[in-house]
Amino acid sequence: MVRPECYAGGPTDNFSRLTSHVSRLTSHDLMLFLLPRISIMELAALYQKALDFQFLSIEEGVYLFEHAPLTELMSIANELRKKQVPHNKVTWIIDRNVNTTNVCIANCKFCNFYRVPGHPDAYITDMDTYKRKIDETFRYGGEQLLLQGGHHPGLGLQYYVDTFRQLKKLYPTLKLHALGPPEVAHITKLEKSTHREILVALKDAGLDSLPGPGAEILVDRVRRLISKGKCGTEEWLTIMQEAHKLNLTTSATMMFGHVETIHERFEHLVKIRSVQAKKPDNSKGFIAFIPWTFQDVDTLLARIRGVHNLVTAEEYIRMIAMSRIMLPNVKNIQASWLTVGKQVAQICLHAGANDFGSIMIEENVVSAAGAPHRFTYKGIQQAISEAGFEPQLRNQQYEFRSIPATIEEQVINY
Ligand code: SF4
Repeated sequence: MVRPECYAGGPTDNFSRLTSHVSRLTSHDLMLFLLPRISIMELAALYQKALDFQFLSIEEGVYLFEHAPLTELMSIANELRKKQVPHNKVTWIIDRNVNTTNVCIANCKFCNFYRVPGHPDAYITDMDTYKRKIDETFRYGGEQLLLQGGHHPGLGLQYYVDTFRQLKKLYPTLKLHALGPPEVAHITKLEKSTHREILVALKDAGLDSLPGPGAEILVDRVRRLISKGKCGTEEWLTIMQEAHKLNLTTSATMMFGHVETIHERFEHLVKIRSVQAKKPDNSKGFIAFIPWTFQDVDTLLARIRGVHNLVTAEEYIRMIAMSRIMLPNVKNIQASWLTVGKQVAQICLHAGANDFGSIMIEENVVSAAGAPHRFTYKGIQQAISEAGFEPQLRNQQYEFRSIPATIEEQVINY
């Protein structure tokens, strides 16, 4: 493995060595000789820039992604992970993805979860169902709901405020990691209000943190093709900025492997990084970044457009490493075992990732498009240990928790 320090302080020496050979070469030899050397020198300079926590440009990121040997990228990303998270623990969380409603008018072409208004399978989750699911979540050691749903045309701000207040009254210790920029944009539009007013009202009603779904790829060309009914790039980013100003902890995601170009993935990363750079000092901003792959089974994108997820294990690991490298101002990088499976996610822990996410007692959106993987609280810890790390339960603020003494292991039967 070529380590970056091999090149440290070396560009001048390398250059003199190169020039001393030049006079003895034909122009063809010169081309063959220089091109790989120049690439190695460029890689070394970019590695050093990354290790110095400097912001790499989109072009520099694409260059590394396309040209750096995987082992070198993993090594650089792992060094950065050790600087950012200087311990051998890999964090994980117990929570449950509960959906407020499956009614949605956004019509995303990768989504098998939603139903149009009036569909016989359409539902709005009632309080008895919430209670049953929360009681179960507490028994399984969780203390948080990841609460999301479709863009229901009839559910405005009051519905969410009432639901959050009622849940908090019934379960004062319950954490609500809820909604996301697309839903906040939808409610804002329904209420003819502002993002800030909606976020303030939701926070007052019990919203603890704002997840980062619906980012897909933050480039409008891509969004027009796969999720035209959702907020655009600028609105997604603006809502997150408003959340940071209100000291709401957020996370950012990227769903890739569909119609986007490599350049657009890196545009996405740079936009996340720019918003993070503007967060107030007292805010955690984006506490984590979670890249995951498009799940294509039975989706409109696959059936009508023939778009399939062709991301290989190597490419996913590369994207994890590049996420760590491109986002020096985001502390936690999460490997998505749900979409890539246990083994690939384990390798990602050696490629810059330091978090294994949730055991997801329940998940209905990504699973509806083919994500088949499942973990219990014992299974996720075993997977982290097998990868050579110490599993550490956390909460949504990435504070460490002890495993509850009375925890029950759920039965995975689906
Ligand atoms: S991904 Fe979300 S916003 Fe898009 S159609 Fe599905 S439920 Fe609606």
